Order: sequence, then C-alpha cells, then structure tokens
Amino acid sequence: MGWDRLIGQDRVKRVLSSAVASKRVAHAWLFHGPPGSGKRAAALAFAQALQCKERFDGTVCNSCSACHKVPRMLHPDVHVLIPHANDAKPQDLGARVALLAESPYAVIDYSRRPDLNGSGGTGNKQVAYLLGQVQEELQAPMKYRPVEGSWRISIVTSVHSMRTAGANAFLKLLEEPGRDTVFILLAERLDQVLPTILSRCQQVRFSPLEVDEMANGLVQEGLAPADMAAVLARMADGSYEQARELALSTELRSSRDLVLDFLRQAFRASGDDVMSRVDELASHGRESVKFHLHVLLGLIRDLLLYAEVGSHAPIVNLDWQDVLSKFSRGLPHARLDVMAEAVEYAMYMVDRNVNQRIALAHLAIVLGRSMQGDTQVKPVPRLE
Ligand SMILES: [Zn+2]
Repeated sequence: MGWDRLIGQDRVKRVLSSAVASKRVAHAWLFHGPPGSGKRAAALAFAQALQCKERFDGTVCNSCSACHKVPRMLHPDVHVLIPHANDAKPQDLGARVALLAESPYAVIDYSRRPDLNGSGGTGNKQVAYLLGQVQEELQAPMKYRPVEGSWRISIVTSVHSMRTAGANAFLKLLEEPGRDTVFILLAERLDQVLPTILSRCQQVRFSPLEVDEMANGLVQEGLAPADMAAVLARMADGSYEQARELALSTELRSSRDLVLDFLRQAFRASGDDVMSRVDELASHGRESVKFHLHVLLGLIRDLLLYAEVGSHAPIVNLDWQDVLSKFSRGLPHARLDVMAEAVEYAMYMVDRNVNQRIALAHLAIVLGRSMQGDTQVKPVPRLE
C-alpha cells in the first residue's frame, strides 16, 4: 500500500514525499503524463502520505486508520472524481471508484469502459464534467472542514473533460482554496488544461514507464509469470494500465495462437482453410478484430526486427524466438514491409466499418503472396 503501489516514477515519489515532509504542500497540483504512467496511483499514495496519522515525513505507516482507509477508497476526506455522462447512475460511479481499491491502475473511465461489466469498446455518449457535477462534488464539500483527516483532498481525473461552465466554477475554487484543501488534477498533456487553471497549479511530470518496471509490477501483482509479463510489458507502450488489461484479457493468449495460425494458412493459401480462419477472427465483433490485428502487427514487427538484427533483436514476443527464427530461415524473401502495411490498412478499413470478412480475406491474400516473396504485391488494393 502507499508508495509501494506506484510503479516506477522514483523522481515523482521524491518530489511528493518531500513536499509532505517539508510541510510545503501546494493547494493545487497538476500531474501530467501519458496514460497508464501512474498519475492516479501517485495521487492516491500522496493522499495517503498527507492523511497518515503516524508519519509526517512523506512516508506512510500502513497501520493507522487513514492508511487503512485511503487505499481502500473509504476515507471521507479523499475524493476521486471521474467525468461521466448525464445519465450515469450513482451506484455505477461508486462501483468504478471502488475498483481503485483493487488497483489504482484499473480502467474506470467511461470513455474507455462505457460498460463496467463489458471488457472495452468505445461509447458514443458525451463524457464530461458538467457544471452540476463540479458544484456537487467539488464546490459543496469544500464548505466543510475535513471529517477525520488533516486535509480535504480531491483528485480530479481527466481534467481536460471539464467544460467551460464547470471550469469557471472550478477556477473560483482554485482562486480561494480552503486552508486544508488539496486539489490534484490529472491530465495527459499540458495543452489540454486551461492556462488560467495551469498557472495556479504545481506541476509534476510523469514519464512513460520502462518495460522492466511494468513486467516486475505484473509479477508482483500475480497477474503473469515472469516470461509472459515480459511479453505483455513490451506490448503495453509504456502504460501499466494497458499491461494489466492485457494480462487480465483471456483473449490475448488465444489471439496470439489465432493470428499465428492465420499467418500459416495465408502462406499455404488453401482457400477453405484461410476462410475458416477469417471467419474465426471475424466472429467476435469489431473491437476483437482490431485487437487481433494489433497482435498480428506486433508479430510482423518482431519478424522485421529479427530479420534485421537476428536473435538479439528487441522483440515483443519473447517466447516465440523459435517461431521467428524458423520464419526468418524458411522465408528469407518474405516482403515483411508490405505485410506490415497490409495489416495497417486492414486496421484502417475495419475502423471505417467495412465488411470485416472482406478486409481479412484481402489481407490473407496479400500476406500469402508477400510471404511467397511476390515482388508485385501491393499492400493496398489499387482502384484502376
Ligand atoms: Zn498511517
């Protein structure tokens, strides 16, 4: 608990804990950096260090009532706000925030997880902080003293989702913060934040996470064994949120086998077998197809790296060394660049609602011919 839950970001830990130790705590902070870099985890650890009743040097005791309540999202003076759609139900909001007790890296926002029980997908609803939410969740509680902590702390996630009226109301709060008030605003980029808000905040920058840091985190959480954790961390683009999602996804393992099989059948170019793989890939809906294509692109990028650098290449699919080496030796003339472009084109088409079977069947043909070393093959069909 406490700082232990924050993956990497040692510089951030030092900055925040020394702010607590020196008793120079700004009333407004802005944590900015890429998704999944740990802004929310840092905000919760910082809140725990501020509220801890036993330690005052920026560390946490992990045994007082505040240390018990903050990480479990039960502390009455630590609030996490998420922007939501007009018709969001209060119990749904509560359930989302409660997920942070399991992990501060859980995906809880409406834009990335419109349905809490669903695995993903993109919602069509407008997700924003409206004036009413700012008044009710930020302004109103500030009238009172903290219930049991030293501070009243509000963690405002996705601050870029604040619309004009809400932002103006919030600005008033920032101009005259209460004595024991701390706002922690989270944003991906500085240019997403109004300059008037920005100028009132102490800024803390978060960097994308290193592969090793994320792999260790997955192992420590018991989400993956070391070899698989290394693969997942490489696929996660510096986001521990993404690494966790991949580890929790039952789809990933089957997807890796599925795309490898798709590639094999495309090479053999036997019509029925290819189409049965196409149907299998297309059978789980658009998001799932995009996921499989993402995995396929990762595999082709590994093949490219392997062809260039050999067995020391910084590949993602570490456990597929033998597959990559067999492919490299067996198909030295494969047009890997064309294959990568063809997958990107298929992703583009699937994103634009084309018939998925047609997009995948076309992809299979291009991949097959590219693997055979066909120099005429083009990744994108030409309209002539
Ligand atoms: Zn404590």
